[in-house]
Amino acid sequence: MMDKLTIDHHLFNFAFENRLQRSYGAMMNRLLEQQAQLADQLVNEQLLQALVKDFVRIERELAEAHRQVVALSRTDALTNLANRRWFDESLHSEWSRAVRASGTLGLLLLDIDCFKLYNDNYGHPAGDDCLRQVARTIQGVLLRPPDLVARYGGEEIVCLLPGTGLAGIKKVGEEILAAIRTLALPHAFSKVPDAIVTVSIGGSACLPRNDLEAAALLKQADEMLYHSKENGRNRLTVAQEML
Ligand code: GH3
Ligand code: MG
Ligand code: MG
Repeated sequence: MMDKLTIDHHLFNFAFENRLQRSYGAMMNRLLEQQAQLADQLVNEQLLQALVKDFVRIERELAEAHRQVVALSRTDALTNLANRRWFDESLHSEWSRAVRASGTLGLLLLDIDCFKLYNDNYGHPAGDDCLRQVARTIQGVLLRPPDLVARYGGEEIVCLLPGTGLAGIKKVGEEILAAIRTLALPHAFSKVPDAIVTVSIGGSACLPRNDLEAAALLKQADEMLYHSKENGRNRLTVAQEML
């Protein structure tokens, strides 16, 4: 038989163990909760890092795609030169820049001689290849960063030379003539002697100002080109005076 003291003692022990177990259980629950929270936090952080990484990559890809689209919209697919649209925009912006800075603007307009006869006799694909080689050769002469070589249309190429006057235009035009002669692509059907592909060039330059239009510079280069054609082709004619 247990006396009262022993029973009290047992009851006390039981109550104590009970409380201990409950607080241990609560502590374990809190610990598990905290662990779960920490795990969630870790997952969230990893997720966030992955999202940021994806975002940075997509942003970079978009910027590159945009750069490529802009480059394509400015480029002539056949020759890889600047296209007519980019030339028109550049002429406009260089014109405004020259007006502000009181600078000169030079222009060379080139046309492949007897190119119809080239196409008719060697075929259109060969004509395309000839155009590509002439374009690459002209681009090779104009290496100054502000200079722009563009396909003006058909077998015509235009060079925009900011900061260049008539003397500079003449020098560059002669260098282009020489480079095309050195390229020496056979053209047995040309009306020009030597049976190679040649170009005719017209050059003009001006001091852009508000009472003058860019079209006047182009018109003068075109007139000079016409003179080169009239005088036997394979030559350069530069305007006598700056506009
Ligand atoms: P000229 O010396 O007076 O300039 O005579 P030309 O035969 O070069 O001039 P014309 O205007 O009579 O002929 C231009 C030719 O250029 C006709 C056209 O088929 C050719 N052409 C224009 N664009 C291209 C092109 O992208 N590829 C090819 N293969 N030929 C082209
Ligand atoms: Mg032409
Ligand atoms: Mg021609």
